Amino acid sequence: MDRRNPESPVGEAQSIESKSVEARGSALPTAVEVVRPSRLLMRGETGIARAGLILAGIVLVAMATSGWWTYQAQRDAVATARRQQVAAVESLLWQSTEVLLAQDEVSAVRRLVADAGRTYNLKRCRIVLPDNGILASSEPSQINLHKLPVTWSDTPMEAGQNTASEMLVTLSHPLQIAGRGSARLDLAAPIDYPLSVFLETQAGVGAIGAAALVSLLLVYRNMRWRLRAMGAIREALLALSQGELSMAALAVGPDLGPEAIAWNDLLIEKDKLSTLVVVGAIRDPVNDRRVNKGDLDAAFDAMSQGLVLINDKLEAKFVNGAAAVFLQTRREQMVGSGVGQFIKYKEVLAAIEGVAAGTVRRRMTLEVKQEGGGSTGVLKFSIRPVRREDSAAAMVIIEDVTQQRVADEARNAFVAQATHELRTPLTNIRLYVETAIEEGEANPSVRTNALNVINQEARRLESIVTEMLSVSEIEAGCFKLNRAEVRLDALFAELLADYEPQARDKSIDLKMNLPPKLPAIKGDRDKINVALHNLVGNALKYTSLKGKVAINVTIDKGTLTVEIVDSGIGIDAEDQKHIFNKFYRAKDPRVSKIVGTGLGLTLAREVVRLHGGEITVDSQLDKGSRFTLTLPIDVEAV
Ligand code: ATP
Ligand code: MG
Repeated sequence: MDRRNPESPVGEAQSIESKSVEARGSALPTAVEVVRPSRLLMRGETGIARAGLILAGIVLVAMATSGWWTYQAQRDAVATARRQQVAAVESLLWQSTEVLLAQDEVSAVRRLVADAGRTYNLKRCRIVLPDNGILASSEPSQINLHKLPVTWSDTPMEAGQNTASEMLVTLSHPLQIAGRGSARLDLAAPIDYPLSVFLETQAGVGAIGAAALVSLLLVYRNMRWRLRAMGAIREALLALSQGELSMAALAVGPDLGPEAIAWNDLLIEKDKLSTLVVVGAIRDPVNDRRVNKGDLDAAFDAMSQGLVLINDKLEAKFVNGAAAVFLQTRREQMVGSGVGQFIKYKEVLAAIEGVAAGTVRRRMTLEVKQEGGGSTGVLKFSIRPVRREDSAAAMVIIEDVTQQRVADEARNAFVAQATHELRTPLTNIRLYVETAIEEGEANPSVRTNALNVINQEARRLESIVTEMLSVSEIEAGCFKLNRAEVRLDALFAELLADYEPQARDKSIDLKMNLPPKLPAIKGDRDKINVALHNLVGNALKYTSLKGKVAINVTIDKGTLTVEIVDSGIGIDAEDQKHIFNKFYRAKDPRVSKIVGTGLGLTLAREVVRLHGGEITVDSQLDKGSRFTLTLPIDVEAV
């Protein structure tokens, strides 16, 4: 019975597969042959059918054995019963016969024998005397002794045979007739096996067997329905283990139930996975390389230094993003093109050529001022040979060292300025000490003047050294406050007193506007003093003769505000961005003629910030400047 749906794709696939196998011939015992469906059984049913047939065979053999065994047992029982019956008749007859014959009751004996023969269906039942005289028999015609002799030999007669075959029981018993002689009782009885009883029994066994077979068939049908999917899957698995990979050959009919559908789904998944693995195996190395390359590119692009790899033909093989930025070109244009097209610095090109050609074997470092694009930076080119088996190549690392150079320049300027600053007061001190020594004794006014100058220069020295120390403290990160009570009225009075002489010298109108009452605040008096001195000192320094400087102090909402307004040279917008940087001095030529190190505002802002305040500037070139210092007076200083 072929249950396949001829329209189902699986069925179709199976038949196509079968045809192809036939075409290939019997020399190919392939897995596909395993899945070829038979005409009677569906794919996967062979195993179940075999099991069913074996079970039916076992039932039939058991039934036959049981029938035969029952038949034999019945025959044995019939034969045994017959033998017992005949033995009982014999016993009854010989006892009765001996008694009756002793009383010469021959006719009674004959009746008895005839009755017994008839009643018990005896083939032979007779009383035999010596010389074969038959006194009584179940067959009256056999009687040849009509009268009982008075006496005869009492020698016991030879006993007949006692046999029991399948069909006949024969018994013989000697008789001793009291006062007459000896005789013998012979019995022979056939054994009848009643056919109807046997048939009945066999029919019963047969009926039980048939019922068992029918039950088996029903169970088989049920099992077959349930297990055929498993059988089909098993066969597909066997085919798979033999190397069959075709989906069509491995799929099972979906009508076999949910197991079959699950199996087919599994096959589809397996197919997809295999495809993915194959595709992955092809793609992976490519992907790996891409990923690695991508990772490297990303890493190189993350570098702040520019990197250019150059081959022996002086072409760029690799360029990172930073290199393109430093060389102010596009990376795509650089890769593959000659170095001369993107590096315009002659000395750098010469160095690269030497290294790439292999004539220079050491690392070379060159610094050049950046060209083009309006930038004024400094680029450092490090050119190193890259050893390769096929050709020599060079690696160029480009760094922007502008900041370092600016810092270096600033430091150098500071040292030069500081040296200059220190040398001037020191020279003055030496000169006035010599004057005081030489002329002082003779002329006391000269000596007094000399001592005043010495005192002034010493204070200037002290201030320069203090500023330098403070700058180094700021750089070292250990610029700290010594907080205590600061009386603002005293502080401002002292400030005015300190700068009045200088203002007078330059005929500058120096004014201080204080509120009626000034509180005492908590802070580092010396450092606040340094900040205020720098601001007022600058105002006087950078204001020409007969100018104006005003110090306006206000206290509002817990904030002390000090405005230092001057009518001096002013600061242009670009310089305003930098004047709080260390060592910075405005580019204005008038500034360079005035003594200064460019540290005052740096220190002032740092001090004010440490107190939680700020310094801002508002200035216009040639018109004057307004520096505003704000300080929270009720907030604890940091
Ligand atoms: P020093 O370290 O002796 O104070 P400096 O005065 O030059 O030297 P800063 O006080 O830091 O240094 O000032 C930095 C620069 O800001 C000055 O060189 C100057 O160019 C500019 N500047 C500061 N105050 C004024 C001002 N009131 N008017 C004009 N320019 C000013
Ligand atoms: Mg200053």
